[in-house]
Amino acid sequence: MHATEHFDVVIVGGGPAGATAATDLARGGHSVLLLERAFRIKPCGGAIPPRLIEDFDIPQHLLVARISAARMVSPANERVDMPVGDTYVGMVDRDVFDPWLRKRAAEAGATVRTATFKDLEYRDDGTVCVTYLDKDTVGERRQVVARAVIGADGARSRVAARCVPGGEKVRTVFAYHEIVESPAANDGADFDPQRCDVWYQGRLSPDFYAWVFPHGDKTSIGVGSEQKGFSAPDSVAKLRADVGLAEARTVRREGAPIPLKPLKRWDDGRNVLLAGDAAGVVAPASGEGIYYAMVGGRLAGEAVAQFLATGDARVLRRARKRFMREHGRVFFILGMMQRFWYTTDKRREKFVKICKDPDVQYLTWQAYTQKKLQRARPVAHVRIFFKDVAHLLGFAR
Ligand SMILES: Cc1cc2nc3c(=O)[nH]c(=O)nc-3n(C[C@H](O)[C@H](O)[C@H](O)COP(=O)(O)OP(=O)(O)OC[C@H]3O[C@@H](n4cnc5c(N)ncnc54)[C@H](O)[C@@H]3O)c2cc1C
Repeated sequence: MHATEHFDVVIVGGGPAGATAATDLARGGHSVLLLERAFRIKPCGGAIPPRLIEDFDIPQHLLVARISAARMVSPANERVDMPVGDTYVGMVDRDVFDPWLRKRAAEAGATVRTATFKDLEYRDDGTVCVTYLDKDTVGERRQVVARAVIGADGARSRVAARCVPGGEKVRTVFAYHEIVESPAANDGADFDPQRCDVWYQGRLSPDFYAWVFPHGDKTSIGVGSEQKGFSAPDSVAKLRADVGLAEARTVRREGAPIPLKPLKRWDDGRNVLLAGDAAGVVAPASGEGIYYAMVGGRLAGEAVAQFLATGDARVLRRARKRFMREHGRVFFILGMMQRFWYTTDKRREKFVKICKDPDVQYLTWQAYTQKKLQRARPVAHVRIFFKDVAHLLGFAR
């Protein structure tokens, strides 16, 4: 028999959201238990913006590539290159990045265990009893008591389904990719180790996009779609043939759901709060989730610290409120974009054409790399708005 352990906070899931919350809370002097089942490498394209690298102190050695341009490919195979300018897009390998984040949490003072969360029970004294299987002791069932729980256990979160109203109803895109060995410079593939290719073609994805993301000696080739019955492996095979990487050695094949919309509630009104994919927080249209998961983890950590100090469960709502105040507008715009531009090849063709516009390129990269809607160039916004309207109404060629 083990004596029951007590922690201020149990965090379920040691991905970017959970590891960030664990680090921040432990640095704030709280006792933290981080549970990570670690049963596989998180399937992910691994693209991160400079804003993340700055805000979350990510060392440069974790970047396996620095990307200097994106290439948009239209249904008619028109290619539009969008140089990033004087900054870059970082690429991380999640089999290295996630364990590094967890190690940082442990160094900050969090207890990190390889363990699978099973269930939790609310106790009469306002605490929570968390049950998990400890993998380090060959699947032993254990229980701990905590004053608060953060569910950062990804899309299809067990904590969300168990504790938060509406937490089990998350709309998702299914994303699948193959990790292949990157080609040598002279082997004839349509490939640049510093360029991310984004393919907007209905034959590859009926409602999202396909990609080629270089990661140094490896490359992620993938696709997403919300449609049931869609064969992602067939699409990736076509794309590999198109770019001349059909014969490249395949290192891994893997897929996972990407949530499409932030949940209406992230907390249970008592002592449980969600963060990252578990809260449904991934940018529509792009599928970018690592930065938003880390922001969500940080906001969850701050809200839980306030809850621990005051005992007032209403402060847990602040995490969602603050997130939506900062990023809600961008999510709304990206959601509209996805619903409109990703539906037919005719629209995809126009969308790629719009990407030729230098103002569109400038504002896109500002929004992605710095996570700011640029107010300094209002004329550019107006021009883009009228161009967009012209395309929508079919006036533009
Ligand atoms: C194919 C694909 C490509 C993507 N490409 C990009 C990209 O290029 N850039 C980008 O920004 N985003 C990308 N995303 C999205 C991004 O991967 C996620 O949004 C991000 O990982 C979310 O972080 P998280 O910490 O919330 O969840 P996760 O990274 O999913 O972490 C959740 C963690 O919880 C653990 N866990 C789950 N259940 C339990 C349990 N019961 N007990 C204990 N632990 C548990 C899991 O093992 C996992 O480590 C991609 C996603 C996919 C599927």
